[in-house]
Amino acid sequence: MAGIWIFAEKTEQALELLQAGQLLLAAGMGGELIAVTWPGGPRPEDLGAAGAAEVLLLPPLADHQPLESYGPSILEEARKVQPNLLLFSSTARGKDLASRIAEGLNAGLCSGCNALHWNSESGTLEMERLLYGGAAVQRIAPFTFPVLATVPPGTFRRGTGNPDREATIRHLPAPPVSPVSVLEHKPKERKGQDVMAAKIVVCAGRGFEKPEDLAFARNLADTLGGALACTRPLSEEMHWLPEDLCIGLSGIQVKPDLYIGIGVSGQVQHLTGIRGAKIVCAINRDEQAPIFAAADLGIVGDLYAVLPRLLQALNETAAP
Ligand SMILES: Cc1cc2nc3c(=O)[nH]c(=O)nc-3n(C[C@H](O)[C@H](O)[C@H](O)COP(=O)(O)OP(=O)(O)OC[C@H]3O[C@@H](n4cnc5c(N)ncnc54)[C@H](O)[C@@H]3O)c2cc1C
Repeated sequence: MAGIWIFAEKTEQALELLQAGQLLLAAGMGGELIAVTWPGGPRPEDLGAAGAAEVLLLPPLADHQPLESYGPSILEEARKVQPNLLLFSSTARGKDLASRIAEGLNAGLCSGCNALHWNSESGTLEMERLLYGGAAVQRIAPFTFPVLATVPPGTFRRGTGNPDREATIRHLPAPPVSPVSVLEHKPKERKGQDVMAAKIVVCAGRGFEKPEDLAFARNLADTLGGALACTRPLSEEMHWLPEDLCIGLSGIQVKPDLYIGIGVSGQVQHLTGIRGAKIVCAINRDEQAPIFAAADLGIVGDLYAVLPRLLQALNETAAP
């Protein structure tokens, strides 16, 4: 068994993938855990502490080269070593790299993989992903290796790690110069808390009539020390909020202690993104809305009547 490779743009994503790899190894899938990184990427010491036995360190990229240009170097090494499984974080760049490397290895790729199991009885790897807009789960058991998977950030919880553990470092050769150049880097404008890390998520749905009314939801998120998120229609159709705040099948997965859906109907594609929430609370004027079937707590009522009262009550409780 030639092991499990992981590649992620951000440290927290790399640690989640290492945790997924550790669970597979603990279940009996042989081999070692190997992380691929580059100067400016997740740090080798963090990867080692989180369980990577070896770190494959790419050289710095030439000026204006995109991250994706590392593809040929990773592919060349993977061709030589033939890892069993390569896990990529399912970001735009991770998906791009994974698909090119899968093609180069002539290997299968499970995109949007949200569960991985090693079946020690049959000696098979089982991978799961959602199908038909989240209405069905597809289970894939590959019988040829290597195999690749892209894993949405937030799918696995990171492990605790051990700072005394160190990975051996092996340097990979520089990739050929890519014909693509990066002209400009601009940080994304972000207002408020990071939704994926937030303990409390307030999610606005199409029940809001006007963009300015979202102030109620933002206010509630701020009062509770949480983050504001939305359903897909609000980001993709109305463009009231940025796409990276959209929770669900085509957005992000969140695992807060408390999720509050306001004017959210609770379609399966949205609920997929809150499966890891500890407590789900819903405010909806339609008592038949599907979100109530998924909710631990529900308020049947008009959000325009409920939210001002809720905010007032919270502010009174918080007042000295
Ligand atoms: C392939 C595919 C992928 C998708 N991916 C995603 C995804 O990632 N995320 C996502 O969210 N959706 C996704 N969708 C869309 C999804 O199917 C739903 O259409 C969407 O989640 C509905 O958003 P909503 O709940 O905001 O709107 P609606 O379904 O229109 O629900 C609005 C709710 O607000 C309530 N309401 C209205 N007015 C008030 C009021 N004044 N007070 C209280 N309640 C009120 C209504 O009763 C209703 O239940 C996807 C769809 C497909 C086909």
